[in-house]
Amino acid sequence: MDKIAELKKLEEEARRTLKKPGTNLVFGEGNPDARVMLIGEAPGFHEDQLGRPFVGAAGKLLDKLLGMGGLDRAEVYITNVLKNRPPGNRDPFPEEINEAAGFLDSQILIIDPQVIVTLGRFSMGKFIPGVKITLVHGDPKRVGKRIVIPMFHPAAALRAGVVMAKTEADFKKLPNILNKLDDIEGDQIDPGQLSLL
Ligand code: URA
Repeated sequence: MDKIAELKKLEEEARRTLKKPGTNLVFGEGNPDARVMLIGEAPGFHEDQLGRPFVGAAGKLLDKLLGMGGLDRAEVYITNVLKNRPPGNRDPFPEEINEAAGFLDSQILIIDPQVIVTLGRFSMGKFIPGVKITLVHGDPKRVGKRIVIPMFHPAAALRAGVVMAKTEADFKKLPNILNKLDDIEGDQIDPGQLSLL
């Protein structure tokens, strides 16, 4: 089965099995061969209405940030920790994160990105637990065979100018990080080499 068919099958399964507090499932979208995968928190109002990730105000900012990182939305894959909108935009509950985790894990396995950019603390916590985003944002870390780069959530950047400036600076580091990764064999990657960028 090709990647598109595998993702489609997984999406159908998520639609059938996950609890549905929202209107539409927001499974994820983008290039199935993406080198960079971005993982947000959960669908908001607009995402829930359209069944697509990051299409509201935070999504518009994300498009701009991707541009600053030399990336186009069409070349990356974007999804969330939760695939359904939590009522009233509240934070995800641990049981909701657990319920959707298998689907996120399968998306990662199918797409097999070299780099995962986490957006916000819920997404970061899956890969780099027990750290503060204010201390580690923008610092690449090797997790298994992948490089995970924790970033602030775009919605947090929209709320505070300081966070916006830091987030823009973090995204601007992406081209250098990706270039550097081109030169290094997967298993040899030492994040120390990357965090100096
Ligand atoms: N915030 C998220 O975390 N994900 C979306 O898809 C939209 C807003």
